[in-house]
Amino acid sequence: MTKAQKTFSQFGLDPRILSAISAMGYVSPTPIQEKAIPLVLSGVDVMGAAQTGTGKTAGYGLPVLQRVLPQANTSASPARHPVRVLVLTPTRELADQVNENLVKYASETPLRVGVVYGGVDMKPQTEQLRRGVEVLTATPGRLLDHVESKSVTLSRVEVVVLDEADRMLDMGFLPDISRILNLLPKTRQSLMFSATFSPEIKKLAKNFLADSPAIVEVARQNSTADTVEQIVYSLHDSEKTDALIQILQTGEDGDPLKQVLVFVNAKITCRRLARTLQRSGIKADAIHGDKTQDERTAALNAFKSGECEVLVATDVAARGLDIAELPTVINYDVPFQAEDYVHRIGRTGRAGAKGKAIMLTTGADSRSVSAIEHLIRKKFEPQVFELVRKPRREDRDRGSFRHPSRFRDEDHEGRSKPDLGEFRRVAYDPIFDKPYEPGESPAPARDPQPAAVRTSKPKRPVAALLGGGFRK
Ligand code: AMP
Repeated sequence: MTKAQKTFSQFGLDPRILSAISAMGYVSPTPIQEKAIPLVLSGVDVMGAAQTGTGKTAGYGLPVLQRVLPQANTSASPARHPVRVLVLTPTRELADQVNENLVKYASETPLRVGVVYGGVDMKPQTEQLRRGVEVLTATPGRLLDHVESKSVTLSRVEVVVLDEADRMLDMGFLPDISRILNLLPKTRQSLMFSATFSPEIKKLAKNFLADSPAIVEVARQNSTADTVEQIVYSLHDSEKTDALIQILQTGEDGDPLKQVLVFVNAKITCRRLARTLQRSGIKADAIHGDKTQDERTAALNAFKSGECEVLVATDVAARGLDIAELPTVINYDVPFQAEDYVHRIGRTGRAGAKGKAIMLTTGADSRSVSAIEHLIRKKFEPQVFELVRKPRREDRDRGSFRHPSRFRDEDHEGRSKPDLGEFRRVAYDPIFDKPYEPGESPAPARDPQPAAVRTSKPKRPVAALLGGGFRK
């Protein structure tokens, strides 16, 4: 017997909200929405463990809008539109994304919905706040700037939401959050969402939520979505860039991959890797914390429109990016924090769509990989990455070449390896084949030849560069 499909009408939401989400194509609630919506509507404090992509924004967004809807009005007076719902997010991208959703959910109501975050001019935000915003999404620092300049007061807040609370702690926002919470009325509803339930998060929940908050968990704690196929390759450090180029250029069936988010651990790698990919003829761009908001938005829009096919990102920059049904996420670097793995691969397989998460690992990553396995309670089965490179003409002409010693002629199961042509160990790293100059912009794709077949001499020892000793 099949269970009848649930619909949003079961929650008793206002017809204007139902009509808005129906226009967005939401048919049935996701598991987190099914659990969270009735609880939030009942007014209790909620602690939600939900990874990105589960539909958590609507899980809290729809019921909080419903709760403040009775006070919605069309008066022109700012006093009639105080902040009643406050959503705090760690990054501007997430703030933007949450706000975008809330604007849509409330589009058929008179509720005023807005967002403030740092990195952009304060003036337009100030004007918007002075006119009155009932549902405000904000990053903590910029919100405090507005509080200080008296463009907003928080004394009428009825519901506060901490979204991606774990990330806010990681980013050192605890003092700012405490200051903001002290400005809110004591009687209010508090909701907290986090991808992971670490001891620090539990401690924050203890201070921030009512004594026994309702707990909503949709998947196992710290789990990754079942819809994401996780592939782990083991290879040598010096092969990572060529391996990435090979994966991007040939995918699984020979076709180039599109709409790929590539994660790296450092801004400098981000810039350089994007440049190297461009030189290999791949439409790539970088998104990292040093880019202005306008640059990030432009890169994201180009990625969404397909103009840019590969976006290389650091964790901070990628936080909160909402790109529908992203098919592939590649971890070029194994994240230092195991939790970041969950966040990174949460970019794919969203809301039930199928996704693939590929991670490149080297011997030096074994501890980080074990930490991820421990966190997600899953053992990876790393595959040896087979780099296929064209033989160099001079080797072919000479009629012989040597495999580097670490490449055996048999694979780990004793089978003969296919002849892969020249297995020329990359003595240089294509990312670092040109000395870095601060402030440089990615070079245009002037060298269409894949990096894998280039024969330039090493300019910098790879180990020195990848080993972390190199600073901007
Ligand atoms: P979130 O986890 O809130 O970032 O949501 C992930 C994505 O799923 C967003 O693009 C949402 O618009 C979408 N989404 C959320 N709820 C639903 C739903 N019930 N049906 C279809 N899509 C949804």
